[in-house]
Amino acid sequence: MANAIFRSRPICANTWLIQGDGSNSYLLVGDTCGVVIDTGFATESIQAYAQTLADRPVAMAANTHGHFDHTGGNGWFARAYMSAQALEIAKTPYASLDASKYPTAYPVTVVGDGDTIDLGNRMLEVIEIPAHAPSSIAFLDRRERIMFTGDEVDARVMLYWIQDEPQPTVEQHALNMEKLLKRREEFDFVCGGHERVMAAASLVEEYLENDRRIMSGIEGGPMVLPDIGPADFHLYQIEFKRVSVFKGTSVGYDLRYVRNR
Ligand SMILES: [Zn+2]
Repeated sequence: MANAIFRSRPICANTWLIQGDGSNSYLLVGDTCGVVIDTGFATESIQAYAQTLADRPVAMAANTHGHFDHTGGNGWFARAYMSAQALEIAKTPYASLDASKYPTAYPVTVVGDGDTIDLGNRMLEVIEIPAHAPSSIAFLDRRERIMFTGDEVDARVMLYWIQDEPQPTVEQHALNMEKLLKRREEFDFVCGGHERVMAAASLVEEYLENDRRIMSGIEGGPMVLPDIGPADFHLYQIEFKRVSVFKGTSVGYDLRYVRNR
């Protein structure tokens, strides 16, 4: 499908990766309807694009967290599912974007641990994993055995944030990884918010190992600013920021937010 903004490719049965502006988006289609997990911040309708791929109605969006590079396209959908914490920021475009281009009057259904989204013979379960963002949730696709993790498990994970949000601790991220690993029997793949697509589920174990190394006192190297994301973001007090690279993982964190358990 030719489109000026969006590209897509199938990643497993009835499931597509869609890339436009901002985060990865994933279209999942069940027997009755489809949902788009994370909607990027393109100013054209990702809903209309997703509908060209699906043979069932695609009216719902769902967000792994409230950062606008994941929620900006929600307004093209009839409804968005997100956590209560995401709702606080999901409708606020980054300052560098033209707010008039983003419809934000869409209705929201707040979801939390154990809630499900039923696509028809394809159930998504919500698992709260707040660290990179206080609003983070994962979606477990039990049928296709995929864990959609947003920015909490990806090629790089940033455990600090620059919006007015509580700073995450490495310990909290480790607890979240332990929580996901309790469900390890139910998924084989991880789909992240920006880079990792259908990665092996062992990535979650590697992140837990990296977190534990940091918590045990092994210090990462100095932070080099990633050249991704909107220019709104600046990293203050960079002298406290570190990045720990281990196996297939990379954790950016703030030295002041590592506590000894
Ligand atoms: Zn994010």
